[in-house]
Amino acid sequence: MIAQDSIDALKARLDVVDVVGSYIELKKAGANYKANCPFHGEKTASFVVSPTKQIYHCFGCGVTGDAIKFLMDYENISYPEAVEKIASLYNFKLEYSNKNYNYEEINVLEKLNQFYIQELIKEKKAYNYLLDRGIQTNSIEKFGLGFAPSTAKQIKFLEEINVPLEKAIELGVLAKGENGVYARLIDRITFPIFSANNRIIAYGGRTISNHPA
Ligand code: ZN
Repeated sequence: MIAQDSIDALKARLDVVDVVGSYIELKKAGANYKANCPFHGEKTASFVVSPTKQIYHCFGCGVTGDAIKFLMDYENISYPEAVEKIASLYNFKLEYSNKNYNYEEINVLEKLNQFYIQELIKEKKAYNYLLDRGIQTNSIEKFGLGFAPSTAKQIKFLEEINVPLEKAIELGVLAKGENGVYARLIDRITFPIFSANNRIIAYGGRTISNHPA
């Protein structure tokens, strides 16, 4: 995971006008900036970016948020992906809080990735989704894309490789909710995220069923 204080340091240096302005054309309007909203079709500009509040807001469709949220929605990417993208835009070096993952923990993430890869091969709907998006079979293999199935299937696999649920929660693979333990990624295409020394340190996920997890 990206360290929270690293995200805070990045945020402190971000300018929402800069970030939004690098995607859509903004026009100065008093203390703020305006544009035609990129999230709903319109002819009059009701999308306002406020440099003092560091947020954007659309008076037409109600979208609102900061620079990171803008990127998430505009590019349809996850929070960590948006943070990483902005960091590279700003030449900002992010720190990762799990940089002290030990060998055993990394091993679990790598085994889990192998499991996700196998699941993707079984899950025709997910596999075809990737092919439909123009992703070639060799890219699927090269980037280690996988598929995160149901919580039950993932817990079964973790048990098979003798990973205690508490450990999986600590690693961020599982989480604890009101209704018990659940997998962080469910019904999602998975993208392993590698550290600088080429070890898996996290996963990104893209839903194919709109499952919220
Ligand atoms: Zn709008």
